[in-house]
Amino acid sequence: MFYEIIMLMIHPFRFIFVLIMFIVFVTGCGEEEPVYDVPLEFQTYVDRFIIEAAKYGQDIDFSDTGLSIQFRDAVDQESGGVCLGNHQIEIEKFFWDDLSEFDKEGLIFHELGHCELSRPHRNDKLPNGEWASRMRGSPIPDGDNAVINYAGSRLEYYRQEFFTNTNTAIPAWASRSASINYAFDRVEVDLIENQETFDEAYLGLSQGDFEIDIVMNSGTSEGFVGVQFMGSSNDDRIRVGYTREGLFAIDSGNLVWGLMFLREDFNLLQSGDNRLTIRREGEFYNIFVNDVFVYWFDYLTPFREAVSSLNTGTLGTPEYKSVSIQSLN
Ligand SMILES: [Zn+2]
Repeated sequence: MFYEIIMLMIHPFRFIFVLIMFIVFVTGCGEEEPVYDVPLEFQTYVDRFIIEAAKYGQDIDFSDTGLSIQFRDAVDQESGGVCLGNHQIEIEKFFWDDLSEFDKEGLIFHELGHCELSRPHRNDKLPNGEWASRMRGSPIPDGDNAVINYAGSRLEYYRQEFFTNTNTAIPAWASRSASINYAFDRVEVDLIENQETFDEAYLGLSQGDFEIDIVMNSGTSEGFVGVQFMGSSNDDRIRVGYTREGLFAIDSGNLVWGLMFLREDFNLLQSGDNRLTIRREGEFYNIFVNDVFVYWFDYLTPFREAVSSLNTGTLGTPEYKSVSIQSLN
């Protein structure tokens, strides 16, 4: 009886022992080929990673390490992606589907930064308050946000910093500013007063410098209010707006630059009327809130030459006291 029990106990363990030996033998001897499993949807950005790395003298080849990039479906995760180690990356599909081309590159690069370049997070800022690195990441301090404008004329700096680590000079654009005082001739193209919504065609959006100047308040709206321009859908518009709670955003669709700027409790906003000024000056847009320069981003030829009101709330309406569109020469 005792012997039978012992045999029953030994047999399963023997099997497991052999199995363990097999695994150790196979992997330990390096006989197994590294697994490369990157769906087409991600391959574009992996190719770009290799090309960009080469520009900075890094020869990247995943044949020795393998690489796996897969979707995960956990929508409750805080991050859009994760490097699990061993060259295995998971991307949250829900998050991914909503990103611009540039932000998709940024996310894949960030995870490859961990997995392939062994980079940890880098959370310092440039002089203008923008993140110094695409490797910014958790923990993000309370009241701050993870938004990077990883696009346009900022892109080259972020790629260079990424591949050369911290040996990157502070870019000139990190101290770029603009003055609210504009010395050139203005011609008023359109003036709208005391409206709850507006949608104005302005054929000058692609032709020269212009200014959209709005005095408004959030009225009874419970959503983002402000202005949108340059496109005809969420994917191709630029939006400048704020909420009654003091959240301020400069956002654009997936076909433009993505989300560019976000501030909670934005100190330039007032509780009553606010003035939003969007000015195109050559290759830049300059954004002012209550006559103070806030942010710049790159000009892009409009998809549609129109300027319209923004109200994301399902309840209530903002009050547009004046909307002035002027061409600048
Ligand atoms: Zn990270």
